[in-house]
Amino acid sequence: MSFKVPKGTQDILPGQTEKWQKVERVIRDLCNVYRYNEIRTPMFESTELFQRGVGDTTDIVQKEMYTFEDKGGRSLTLRPEGTASSVRAYVEHKMFGSADQPVKLYYTGPMFRYERQQAGRYRQFVQFGVEAIGSKDPAIDAEVMALAMDVYKTLGLTELKLVINSLGDKETRDAHRAALVEHFAPVKDELCADCQSRLAKNPLRVLDCKVDAKHPAMATAPALTNYLTADSATYFADVKKYLDILGIPYEVDPNLVRGLDYYNHTAFEIMITGDGFGTITTLCGGGRYNGLVEDIGGPESPGIGFAMSIERLLLALEAKGIELETENNLDMYVVAMNEEAKAKAVELVANFRKAGITAEMDYLNRKMKAQMKAADRQAAKFVIVLGESELEQQAVNVKTMATGDQQQVAFADLASFVQANK
Ligand code: ATP
Ligand code: MG
Repeated sequence: MSFKVPKGTQDILPGQTEKWQKVERVIRDLCNVYRYNEIRTPMFESTELFQRGVGDTTDIVQKEMYTFEDKGGRSLTLRPEGTASSVRAYVEHKMFGSADQPVKLYYTGPMFRYERQQAGRYRQFVQFGVEAIGSKDPAIDAEVMALAMDVYKTLGLTELKLVINSLGDKETRDAHRAALVEHFAPVKDELCADCQSRLAKNPLRVLDCKVDAKHPAMATAPALTNYLTADSATYFADVKKYLDILGIPYEVDPNLVRGLDYYNHTAFEIMITGDGFGTITTLCGGGRYNGLVEDIGGPESPGIGFAMSIERLLLALEAKGIELETENNLDMYVVAMNEEAKAKAVELVANFRKAGITAEMDYLNRKMKAQMKAADRQAAKFVIVLGESELEQQAVNVKTMATGDQQQVAFADLASFVQANK
């Protein structure tokens, strides 16, 4: 019998994990600089939280959730996204009462969606996301977008565009909703079954349909932007003003609606430009969700956030031929020529490690040549070879692999020598 990873999931092996760690370091450093603090929530929540928090008419809730009943008869769901859990925690722990407002949170961790597998679309994927809750200042919308852009920029990804739109407020959406229903009514029968029911429940969703994307009525659909109330238009203008101040270029796409029910005002996506991977171009999505905290049982607390998957980020880097500088360096390989030397090697390797020097040795009793090869394969910076004479003299030639230089160093001084020269 042989086993394989479940469909839509992947093993991340040594060689790849270093890239993940690099991305995670960049994320943590940037979140610190921007003053977002990490939150860790459970990997599953009550199903109802997502029905409420993500929205009953979304693809996520309708088709993509991993829902199960536990032995106590509770309906639980593996989290498909991070906002609902973050907001639940915000309400449950009364973070709205904290003196520091807005509350600025970030998370990274696996999300689960039952989706058709393709490049950049997995059933388990890792999202990095942020939520800034408790402010409706358009400057924080710009800050959130700047942080997302900064992650990609710091990793060397520059062929990107930030696409923004305003979904307006409730009044805006009610007026737009009526216009959409009127617009699509004559062609209703030509739309997919999902869209026909969306038209009744949440017509905005129709604009986000992947099946009907090419239907001629899509291109001529009334744009939400034309229904913005004066307040919403001012808000959107201010968001753009702050993006300008930050020097972040953007494109306005009046058809950008995003997949989640709860967005209002600002919606944005970051897309890869030029050659990408597969058919997917969106790397990151986010938006404002005033009203969500109340829906989940908290006091009025406007919020904004985004989420991006690390998988798509890494695929984008690969598509652009960008190599990440990873940290997995071997400072010292200790070669031992005989049993006695091996005992010393064990001791020296332990000493190196105590000093914070990465060190490795042979555990297969291989011949010297094979040990040297192993040192080479692992790209050791320095190599020492321990034999009879070295043990006698309590000193060894340290070979710098890059240059071939050799220098004699007493055993007692080895760690400080490597520290000083690595
Ligand atoms: P899409 O339209 O591609 O399905 P979405 O609207 O479902 O995206 P969001 O729910 O906004 O995406 O998630 C935010 C980000 O999470 C996406 O921009 C993408 O980077 C990532 N993402 C979403 N679904 C997946 C997936 N199945 N596999 C890998 N990454 C994903
Ligand atoms: Mg999706």
